[in-house]
Amino acid sequence: MNCSKIMDNMEVYLRSDLRKDLDEANAQDLHHALSKAIMSEIAEPWKESLLLHQAGRHAYYMSAEFLIGRAIYNNLLCLGIYDEVEEKFKERGLDLSMLEEVEDASLGNGGLGRLAACFLDSAATLDLPLDGYGIRYRYGLFKQYIQDGFQKETADDWTRFGDPWSIRSDSDAVLVKFADQTVRAVPYDIPIIGYGTKHIGNLRLWQAESISSFDFNEFNAQHYDASVREKNRAEDISRVLYPNDSTDEGKKLRLKQQYFFCSASLQDIIKKYKANHGNDFTRFAEFNAIQLNDTHPVISIPELVRLLTTYEGVEFRQAVEIAQKTFAYTNHTILPEALEKWNKHLLIAVVPEIYEIIEKINNMFIDELYKQQRNPDFIQDVQIIKHDMVHMANLAMYGSSYVNGVAAIHTEILKKNTLHSFYELWPERFQNKTNGITQRRWLAMNNRELSALITRLLGSDAWVTDLTQLKKLEKYAHDEAVLDEFWNIKHQKKRQLGMFMLKHDGTAPIKGSIYDIQIKRLHEYKRQFLNALSILYIYYGIKDGSIQDFYPTTFIFGAKAAPGYDRAKGIIKLINEIARLIENDGQVRDKIRVVFVSNYNVSYAEKLVAAANVSEQISTAGTEASGTGNMKLMLNGAVTLGTMDGANVEIVEEAGLENEYIFGGTVEEIERQENNNYIPYNIYNGDPKIKRVMEALVNGTLNDGGTGIFRELYDSIIHKVDWGQSHPDKYFLMYDFQSYVDTKLRLNRDYRDKYAFASKCWMNICNAGKFSSDRTIQDYAANIWHIDPVEFE
Ligand SMILES: *Cc1c(COP(=O)(O)O)cnc(C)c1O
Repeated sequence: MNCSKIMDNMEVYLRSDLRKDLDEANAQDLHHALSKAIMSEIAEPWKESLLLHQAGRHAYYMSAEFLIGRAIYNNLLCLGIYDEVEEKFKERGLDLSMLEEVEDASLGNGGLGRLAACFLDSAATLDLPLDGYGIRYRYGLFKQYIQDGFQKETADDWTRFGDPWSIRSDSDAVLVKFADQTVRAVPYDIPIIGYGTKHIGNLRLWQAESISSFDFNEFNAQHYDASVREKNRAEDISRVLYPNDSTDEGKKLRLKQQYFFCSASLQDIIKKYKANHGNDFTRFAEFNAIQLNDTHPVISIPELVRLLTTYEGVEFRQAVEIAQKTFAYTNHTILPEALEKWNKHLLIAVVPEIYEIIEKINNMFIDELYKQQRNPDFIQDVQIIKHDMVHMANLAMYGSSYVNGVAAIHTEILKKNTLHSFYELWPERFQNKTNGITQRRWLAMNNRELSALITRLLGSDAWVTDLTQLKKLEKYAHDEAVLDEFWNIKHQKKRQLGMFMLKHDGTAPIKGSIYDIQIKRLHEYKRQFLNALSILYIYYGIKDGSIQDFYPTTFIFGAKAAPGYDRAKGIIKLINEIARLIENDGQVRDKIRVVFVSNYNVSYAEKLVAAANVSEQISTAGTEASGTGNMKLMLNGAVTLGTMDGANVEIVEEAGLENEYIFGGTVEEIERQENNNYIPYNIYNGDPKIKRVMEALVNGTLNDGGTGIFRELYDSIIHKVDWGQSHPDKYFLMYDFQSYVDTKLRLNRDYRDKYAFASKCWMNICNAGKFSSDRTIQDYAANIWHIDPVEFE
C-alpha cells in the first residue's frame, strides 16, 4: 500500500469534497478525506476479491446486527500503514489520535453483533470467501448518558458526518414486497480488509426506501402529504436497531426488518448465482452456504423456497431440499423462553405467502415424523407451528444442514435440554463452534504497547495471524524482568484509560488501584446486580472492621440497558447510588471507587479491556451461551473472576484453574436448586451481613429518586414471584453470594503479591490462543461451509 499516495489523495479529497486545506481541516474532515483516499486505493483488490468469491464455492453470514465500531484505525492496521500514517500526520503537525472523535458504527446491541464483525475480519484475513448481509440502520444503538444516576437515551445519528466507508450501489437495488407495502432495498457495501493480504471481503447492508417518485403533474397538497407519508413508512423499516430482544413493542416492524433484509439478500445471491452459473438451481447449494446468526434471519428459509418456486421454476420439495443444503443455523440462547416465535396472524398480515410456505414445510415435516412413527408428544415438541405460533428455531432446525452452539458447555446444553428432541432426530447436524474475537482489533490495535512486547519476545509478529503463538510466552511466566515490563504496560494502559474516563465521564479511577471491570449489556442474567451488592458488602465490611487491609479497588461498569427494561435501568441507578454513598464516606473513599462509564461501545471497550486487572464474568451458570468480552479481557492480561458458564469453562481449561478466580454454583448445582424448592429468603435471613446489604436498598440508605425501583429490585430477590416463576431470585444471586464475595476478597489479597498475580495475568495471555475468531472461522469453513481460501493470480 502506497502511503505517500494516500496522504496526497487525502489532501485532494479535502479540497475537492470539502473545499479545505490541511490546516483548516477538523477531525471529521480528516476522517472523511483519509477514508476516501484509502477507499480509492483498495477499490481494485476489493473488486477482484469479490469476483473470486463468486467464482467458486462461497459463504454468506446473515445477521441482523454487525457491531463494527470505528473502522479507520483497524483498516490502517490491516493495510500495514498505521505507523507510517501516524508518522506522516506528525510531519504535518497533526495527531492521528484526533480521529477518536469519529463515532462508532453501532449497528448491533452487544456480543452477537460484535461476533459477526469479528468473523468477517477473520474470514478476510484468512482469504476465505465469506461476505456479510445485514441492515443499514439509520439510527444504531441509542447513545447513553447518565443524569442523576439514571440512564438517558438519545438517537445515534451515526452518519451525521457522512459515511466514507460505504459505497451505495443503486444498480443492485431490489424490491421487497409486504402485504401492505412494497419498498426498495438499496445496498451499501463496506470493505472488510484482511490483515497482510490483498483480500477484501464485503459487508452489504440494506437500506429501505420508497419506490415511488414524486409526480409533479399531479401536484396538490394532499398528494404531497400522501407521498411523504409513504416515503416515511418505507424508511421506517430500516430506521432503528431494536435495542431489546424481549418486548412486544414494534413486533410487526421488527418482523418486517427481518424479512426485508433476508429477501433482499437472497434476491441478490440468486442474481449473482445466475450470472455465474446460469439457471440450473440443482447446483445452487454446491456454490452457496448461508449462515444464519441466531433466528433473526431464519425467515430466509421460506423466502428462498418462495423465490425458487415462484420465479425459477423449481418444484416445492426440491426447493426445500436446496434450502436445507444451503443454510446452517447458529443458536445463541439457552433459555427456552428466549427462543423467537412469531404469531401466525402477524405473519399472515405481513407476509402471507411466507406463512403459506411455512405451513407447507411444517406439514412436510410432520408427515416425515408420522412415517417414522414418532409419538405425538415428540411431534408436538419439534413441529414448527403450534398454538398459532411459528417457532423460528424449529424452522431453522428443519431447514438447515447444521446447527451450532457457541461454546462447548452451551452446545451440550442444547443437546441435552433446549433442542433435545432435534438431537434425537439428527445428532449429525449438531456442532460446536466456540466463539472467538479478532486479535487484530482486540490486541494489535487497542494495545500497541503489549503487542510490541509480545512481538519482541517472540521475535516475530506472526501471532497477529496465528494467535496460538502466544503459548510460547509461557516460559516468561516467572521471569521477573518480563513481568515487570508487562506490569508497566498495564500501568500505562490504566493511566490512559483513567485520562479518558476523566474527560469522558468526569471521574477517574483511584491511582494505583485494582481495576475490576464488568462491561456487557445490562441484564439480570449477567448479574451486574450481584457485583453491586458485593461492593456494598465490602463497603460495610471495611467500615465495621471485619474486612482489613483491603487493596484499593476501582470497580468499573459499562453497560446499556434496553430502554424498556426497568429493572436493568434500576440496576444502573443502584450502581451510581452506591458510587455516591462510598464517595461521600471519608473512611472508605480511598479504598473503593465505583465508576459507571457512560455510552459503553466498541471504542470504549478497546480502552477498558487493555486496562483491566480483573474481568467480571459472573452470569448464573447455564445462562450465558458463550461471552466474548471474557476473551478480550483475558487476551489483554486480566484474570477472570467468574462462574463456570459459557466460554469461561474453556478459559479455565486453557489457562488453568489456578490462574482464574472461579466461584458459584455449577450448571448441575443450579439445576438441582431449581428443582428443589430454592428459597433465597433463607439465605438472606440467615446471614446478618447479607441482610444488611439487601436492606440498604429499602431502608433509606440508598435513594432511587422516588421511583420505587430499589424496592422492586429487593422484592425480585426476596419476595415477589415473577409471573410464571417458581421462586424469586431467578438468577440465584443469594445462592452464589457468599462464594462470590469470598473469592473476590481472596483475589484482593492475592494482588498484593505482584509477581504471583502478574504471573497469573501473563498465563492468561499465553493461553488465549484458542479464542481467536480465526480458529472459530476456520472451523466453520472446514466443517460447516466447506469452503477454501481464494487464490490471487
Ligand atoms: C465484546 C462486546 C460485547 C460482548 O460482551 P459480553 O461480555 O460477552 O457480553 C458487548 N458489547 C461490546 C461493545 C463489545 O465489544
